[in-house]
Amino acid sequence: MNSSGPGRAELTIRAIRARAVEVPMRRPLVTGGGTVGAVPLVLVDLATDGGITGCAYVICYSRIALQPMAALIANLGAVVENDRLAPHDIHHKLLRRMTLLGRQGMTGMALAGIDMACWDALARAHGVPLVRLLGGVPRPVPAYNSNGLGLIGPESAAREARELLAGGFAAIKVRLGYPSLAEDVAVVRAVRASVGPSVQLMSDYNQCLDVAEAIRRGHALDAEGLVWIEEPVRADDYVGHAAIAAALRTPVQLGENLWGPPDLIKAIAAGAADFVMPDAARIWGVSGWLKAAALAEAHGLPMSSHLFPEISAHLLAVTPTCHWLEYMDWAEPILQEPIRIERGHAIIPDRPGHGMAWNEAAVTKYQVA
Ligand SMILES: [Mg+2]
Repeated sequence: MNSSGPGRAELTIRAIRARAVEVPMRRPLVTGGGTVGAVPLVLVDLATDGGITGCAYVICYSRIALQPMAALIANLGAVVENDRLAPHDIHHKLLRRMTLLGRQGMTGMALAGIDMACWDALARAHGVPLVRLLGGVPRPVPAYNSNGLGLIGPESAAREARELLAGGFAAIKVRLGYPSLAEDVAVVRAVRASVGPSVQLMSDYNQCLDVAEAIRRGHALDAEGLVWIEEPVRADDYVGHAAIAAALRTPVQLGENLWGPPDLIKAIAAGAADFVMPDAARIWGVSGWLKAAALAEAHGLPMSSHLFPEISAHLLAVTPTCHWLEYMDWAEPILQEPIRIERGHAIIPDRPGHGMAWNEAAVTKYQVA
C-alpha cells in the first residue's frame, strides 16, 4: 500500500456536468411503439481532482425529457461532489437518496449516467479498459445489427436487411407489429429470402400486442426460425410474457425496460422470458448491470444488451451468460471513435475506460440550449 500520498484509487469527484444534445439518426426507426428520427442524449462529464475525467451518455427517448434529465443529473452530481471516486459507494448513496422518489424512470437513468461516468473515470485512472477493471479481458463480443428494419414493409425490409449485413454482420433484427399477422409473416419471409438461411434473425414487437394476439402470431412465427420474439406485450406484464413464453417454441426476450435489478428479480420470478437484455442505463449503470448479470447466471438466462453498444461491449465481456450485443449507431455522430465491428463482433477498444470521447465540434453543433 502506498501510504505517502493519495494513490490513483483515491481520486475525488470535483464536478459533474450534464449537456443536452439532439443527434440526428442515419436511419429513422419506425416501430410498433412509434417513429424515432433523432436521439435526445444527455452527456455526462465527471471531473476528478486528479485531472481524470470520466464520461457517459444517457438516452432520453423524448425531447420533453431532455432538459429535465440534464438538470436531474447536475443536481444529483452535486450530491456526490467531493466524494471519493468509489463507484459502488456512490451508487448506493444515490440509491438511498431515491428511497422516496423511486428508482424508476428518469431517476434511475440519471443515477446510471453518473455511475457509468464514475466507472469510466476509475478505469482511466488505472490506465486500463473498463473490462479489465471488471476482471475480464477485451474480447470480441457477438453483435447483431439493430439499426433500421422498422415497420417499412416487405420490399423495403428485404433491401435494407442486405444493407445491414455490411461490415460483416451475420445477425439482424426486424421490427414486427404490422396491422395483420399475414404482414408480419410476409416481412419475415422477405427478409429471410433476402439475406439467406445463415443469417440469424431477431424480432421485436415493441410491446404492441395483447397476450392472446401474441400467442396467435407467435405460433405462426414458430415456423420461421427466429432467434427470439422481443417484448410482444407491455414490458411490465411479466405474467403475460410468461404465458407467451410457455406457449411458443421461439424464445421470448425482454429486459430493455427493466428498472434496476429489482425488476429483473420480478421478471425471473414470473418466468417472463427465455432470454434477458437489460439496458445499461435503465438497469442502473455498470453497478446495476453486474448484479443483473449475476442474477441471469444464477437462473441460466442468456443475457444480451440494449443500446449503449460502447459500454455494453465491456459489460457483456464479463457477463457469464453473454449472448448478443445490440449494435446501434445512434451515438456515433458525437463520438471521436465509434466502436468497431469486425466479422459481426464488437471490438472493445484498447484504451483506458470505456473508450468513448466526445467529438466536441459535433457536441456543439447538436447541443440543445
Ligand atoms: Mg426492443
